[in-house]
Amino acid sequence: MDIHGQVTNCHLELGRTDPEIASLVRAEELLQQDTLRLIPSENYVSAAVLEATGTVLTNKYSEGYPGRRYYEGQQNIDPIEIIARERAQALFGVDHANVQPYSGSPANLAVYLAFARPGDTVLGMSLPMGGHLTHGWGVSATGTWFRGVRYGVRADTGRTDLDEVRELALRERPKMIFCGGTAVPRTVDFAGFGAIAREVGAILVADVSHIAGLIAGGVHPSPVEHVDVVSTTTHKTLRGPRGAMLMCAREHAKAIDKAVFPGLQGGPHNHTTAAIAVALREAAGEDFRVYARQVVANAKRLGEELAARDFDLVSGGTDNHLLLVDLTRRGVPGKIAAKALDRAGIVVNHNTVPFETRSPFDPSGIRIGTPALTSRGLTQEHMVCVARWIDRVVTAAATGAEDRVAAVRQEVRELMSGFPAPGLPV
Ligand SMILES: *Cc1c(COP(=O)(O)O)cnc(C)c1O
Repeated sequence: MDIHGQVTNCHLELGRTDPEIASLVRAEELLQQDTLRLIPSENYVSAAVLEATGTVLTNKYSEGYPGRRYYEGQQNIDPIEIIARERAQALFGVDHANVQPYSGSPANLAVYLAFARPGDTVLGMSLPMGGHLTHGWGVSATGTWFRGVRYGVRADTGRTDLDEVRELALRERPKMIFCGGTAVPRTVDFAGFGAIAREVGAILVADVSHIAGLIAGGVHPSPVEHVDVVSTTTHKTLRGPRGAMLMCAREHAKAIDKAVFPGLQGGPHNHTTAAIAVALREAAGEDFRVYARQVVANAKRLGEELAARDFDLVSGGTDNHLLLVDLTRRGVPGKIAAKALDRAGIVVNHNTVPFETRSPFDPSGIRIGTPALTSRGLTQEHMVCVARWIDRVVTAAATGAEDRVAAVRQEVRELMSGFPAPGLPV
């Protein structure tokens, strides 16, 4: 480690044992250094978080919870999990945090296990409108074992209409309601959802996977007062390792803990728990608040610059870290645009847009986010350049002008070389 937290040891042992995997890891490091990563669910963890995930904690079994384990030798594991829990509780202002879910999807499944029975009705945002698979969508276990009913956004505003959600909830009487999603560029009205859930007697889950870091950083309202359970991944804007947390008031603590273990999982991933603790410590600092503000400022600016270049933004812009772009007007399907952008070193994902007219495998839009580039130090001024590149590549994709894509690739490489990625070897 040098003073900038850059990892200087280039996987010596891994290279000796398994050169094939070592060289792929090395190639991925170069790719992450060398590209402009705009997938809104991705980020760069710090060198400290990365180091915690690569520790001997991965060797340890510890089914159960601190003080109530099914294995001995928990002298160090218990305090690590207690610290992670306490930091989550302090940062989000909740009574109880469970830091054991392996990832966001199992975390949500644990919530179903805690509060619903197979066949019960669950109200969530429709996947093509911006919801997550685990909010009761058909192909997911949650949509197979439960009866998923869906709300969306309005065609004219691109935003969720809570009067419609209320009507649906009154008619369908769901056992649980999910708010939050994966392609929601606007502030989620947790108080509004809370009133509806109370009126129909449903358990309300705020899935803040995408925006947890923005909530921690004070740039998105907190759901805590308004919902029964807060579910979140730890690896998106929160900038921790791949993992998840469930947070709730004391009254639900037992149900949540029982659902995660022994309901759904076995031994917790202790190396991940340690890294979550480190990420939560980082997220409680003033630097992280500055980071969160910059993520939003960058997204807003990028949205303005794209809109000025005839890009059609769902809901007209953003309040958070992501932009959903409908490319119909530009005459390029999302996948073709995303692949061309990838060749230019600009990494996004193709995405459905509300009222999608194409197939979900070949949809009309792309999804763009600023968490990762902000972790590298890019600010509003750079968003002009990013928007210009996206415009050039999408235009080139429409006309098949591959040489223009290659030109952008070179410019991306040059800019990114000036912004070393956290946690990566120099
Ligand atoms: C990412 C995400 C998840 C799932 O997380 P995984 O770790 O990929 O399983 C769940 N809900 C929402 C809203 C998400 O954005």
